[in-house]
Amino acid sequence: MSADIAALLQTIADEAIALTDRGAVADYIPALANVPPRQFGIAVATVDGALHRAGSADQAFSIQSISKLFALTLALQREGDDLWQRVGREPSGTPFNSLVLLERESGVPRNPFVNAGALVITDVLCHRYLQPERAVLEFVHRLLSRTSVAIDPQVARSERLHSDRNAAIAHFMRSFGNLRQEVAAILDAYCAQCAIAMSCAELARAALFLAADGVQPGAARVLQAADARRINALMLTCGAYDAAGDFAFRIGLPTKTGVGGGILAIVPGRMSICAWSPRLDATGNSIAAAAAIERFAATTGLSIFR
Ligand code: GLU
Repeated sequence: MSADIAALLQTIADEAIALTDRGAVADYIPALANVPPRQFGIAVATVDGALHRAGSADQAFSIQSISKLFALTLALQREGDDLWQRVGREPSGTPFNSLVLLERESGVPRNPFVNAGALVITDVLCHRYLQPERAVLEFVHRLLSRTSVAIDPQVARSERLHSDRNAAIAHFMRSFGNLRQEVAAILDAYCAQCAIAMSCAELARAALFLAADGVQPGAARVLQAADARRINALMLTCGAYDAAGDFAFRIGLPTKTGVGGGILAIVPGRMSICAWSPRLDATGNSIAAAAAIERFAATTGLSIFR
């Protein structure tokens, strides 16, 4: 199986390069618009400790919304089920940065992966930690058993300077009493957390606990098995925003995407996969990375629906 995975990743990387001219890089965060777009990487980490990679799998990129997974896990560790009083578990069917449902639903976001939900999670972390973005970063360091991962200050600053939309979402939720800290502090922490830079290889390894019933292989228990299952369920139903249904149809695995072009997918009990390529489709998901993970799942037959 190991040799097969390595060979398959190489084939996928060779094919994916042809897709890297489709779509557009996220430019609403100016620092992301400068990323050279014709890049592709993929890595697979297995629960028994193997790591396979192809293309630019060791190139760090802005993890953006994939950070919401780590922030959610940390908030769940601290708050437990109380968290679900303030954020829902339903797909939104709207873009990641939409305000549309918040008025009708009294400032309670549909799920923790749309920006509104992630801002509630950041509010929780702001209450629990003096430096919430450091708490998320240090959590990633613990998952990787090393401290080499960092926040890209330029990307954090760039997003913060252009965060009117997230500010609007946050103020709106605060008017309903669903944010407790100051909006400015929440946005500072949120933009910094989204600006964590990691490679496909690092992301695949860091997220392995979601494939291993909540235990990080070779390290400690991160979450109860039931919570790891629930996060996987949320990834399947909400991890790719309003393309989550299409992703479930095409790929059949829990995924979390980010506008930096990364996509993380979990094969429960087996492995985690991360692919990256900067150009996105209209829903904010990487075209080449989604195609690569779709191809991997189809070729290996790995799907949660088999
Ligand atoms: N930092 C980005 C934002 O809030 C994250 C969005 C994403 O990666 O989908 O707009």
